Amino acid sequence: MAIPSINAEECTGCGLCVDACAADALSLVDDVCVVNEAECIECGICLDECAFEAITA
Ligand code: SF4
Ligand code: SF4
Repeated sequence: MAIPSINAEECTGCGLCVDACAADALSLVDDVCVVNEAECIECGICLDECAFEAITA
């Protein structure tokens, strides 16, 4: 695993990944998900959560 990357073109701002992240490492800024790299524990849960394939690692 690595720190996930968000494809801003694909992100719909649905917020599912934000709710799923147990480390509170994700947030929405102007309806696009952003990763707080200092908080991310690289668990990979958000990759499965995004239905729009906007998250890669
Ligand atoms: S990999 Fe895990 S800790 Fe990191 S942003 Fe995704 S859900 Fe949160
Ligand atoms: S789950 Fe995917 S589309 Fe929804 S906010 Fe997260 S990255 Fe964006």
